[in-house]
Amino acid sequence: MQQRQLGDIRITRIVESTGTDFQPLTFFPETGPEDWEAHRNWMLPRAMDTASGNLVLVFQAFLVQTSRHTIIVDTCVGDNKPREMRPSWHLQQLGTFLPLLAGAGVAPEAVDYVLCTHMHSDHVGWNTQLRDGRWVPTFPNAQYVFARGELDAWEKLHRETPQPHLIDSVYPILEAGQAKLVEPDFAIDDEVWLESTPGHTPDHVSVRLASQGAQAIITGDLIHNPVQCLEPEWIMRADFEPERAKATRQKFLDAHCEADMLICATHFPEPSFGRLVRRDDAFWFEYEE
Ligand SMILES: [Zn+2]
Repeated sequence: MQQRQLGDIRITRIVESTGTDFQPLTFFPETGPEDWEAHRNWMLPRAMDTASGNLVLVFQAFLVQTSRHTIIVDTCVGDNKPREMRPSWHLQQLGTFLPLLAGAGVAPEAVDYVLCTHMHSDHVGWNTQLRDGRWVPTFPNAQYVFARGELDAWEKLHRETPQPHLIDSVYPILEAGQAKLVEPDFAIDDEVWLESTPGHTPDHVSVRLASQGAQAIITGDLIHNPVQCLEPEWIMRADFEPERAKATRQKFLDAHCEADMLICATHFPEPSFGRLVRRDDAFWFEYEE
């Protein structure tokens, strides 16, 4: 169990899986083999798999327990979801997510809020689970917080090309009356709030935490791999608006470098917690073991 205490807030990583099938040149399609030469040595073996040379990505949720609320940020890929565009996720049955949550002492009924950084399929999966052939909310008492602009953008896309993850992981939440549509600066209280970090998707948000003077940010997908601290210009293949994604990433790096800010980097390899520091002329992610 990977936990951090941030003042009165406890942050626990709920790791659904770790993927090593992400080829660098397709994940960052504008890069060529020569771009990776300077990075391979420091990336191996943590951020780059030694055997395959592929990028290592963690798929996880962050459980945030404050003195007032139990909150889950993002809900991974999910089990039994039809994801034909990505065979390794298609109808996966890992069975890891709920037992890990139980291991952290949290029953699904106890979750008050589910926060969604964005609506890619690896961030909304456990919003729902299959029960008697129907997709039902996994967290029956939670409000699921979605940025209104994010939902609008995906619905528009869905009208042009059907989006399976909307059908099985977002619409059942709306139909159950558990969705709370918000602006991207929504705050639960003075300890947990959203921050607009657009680009990877139209209304992408990060989650800010503060307690007793300590601060943290859960990145979502404004950054995918520690290599982007050194190469903020590198565009991940699914970045919806590349220029905006770059600007957001640069702003994030500038704002939190050498600052007292715990970075909870959603897809970064173990332990995914760290600080941004300056090394030579670049940014560097220093893991907090
Ligand atoms: Zn993602």
